[in-house]
Amino acid sequence: MGMHGDTHPFIGLTSWTRRVRSGVKDRFNESVPRGYTQGVEAASGLPVLFPNSDNLSLAPEYVARVDGLLLTGGDDIHPRHYGEAPHPRIDLVDERRDAFEIALLRAARERGMPVLGICRGIQLINVALGGDLYQDIPSQKESSVGHAQKTLREGPWHEIEVRPGTRLAEILGETRAAVNSYHHQACRRVAKGLAVTATTADGIVEAVEDPGHPFFVAVQWHPEVLEGGGAASSQRLFAAFVAAAREFRLLSSKGRSARPA
Ligand code: MN
Repeated sequence: MGMHGDTHPFIGLTSWTRRVRSGVKDRFNESVPRGYTQGVEAASGLPVLFPNSDNLSLAPEYVARVDGLLLTGGDDIHPRHYGEAPHPRIDLVDERRDAFEIALLRAARERGMPVLGICRGIQLINVALGGDLYQDIPSQKESSVGHAQKTLREGPWHEIEVRPGTRLAEILGETRAAVNSYHHQACRRVAKGLAVTATTADGIVEAVEDPGHPFFVAVQWHPEVLEGGGAASSQRLFAAFVAAAREFRLLSSKGRSARPA
């Protein structure tokens, strides 16, 4: 085994199932937007796409073979997971994806593996750990901040305030940042064990982390598409995640077979 394989951790990425027209039948594609795979690769990680398996018992098997888990963006989580009926404004849901991602997250938590959640990912984490969501911010929360971006998603849309002393503040190196925003849901009651690490002026949660974990960070914005002024902080976020995955790999049995250089 060469140095390359020893130092580049594997990052499992959750995927979106999309219905596509193909010939006379609809078929299903499982994929992720390229920003996620490129963000991981640019940080010297090796992205691996996880399907939305019907077989929940496979989740620990998938997780055991990677060094970090990235919960990607996507559609709404079914509100049954926090004991509510769907709000009229709820968007698409994919219950297969909900179930498999929750199983993946549980397996990653059991192993103490680094986890990064993005957009739907922060919501999935909050719900899986016992919190709940605004099903539709515009109809459930008074807000002077629009979270539905009306400009190009590669640029910033609103400011966030980052709590000093948090892992996120350490990674970003700043307590104010301008980020993009295209979500109509957000964390409402934050799960026990998670700390809120960034908010907008209207009080919407834009980031959380588990302070007791080496790397368990989630953000509501989309660092994987930010360009220009937001690119540097996004790269720092991916770099910190992949570095934590590398460290986890070296400390696990997977890394122990590697010969010292
Ligand atoms: Mn936002």
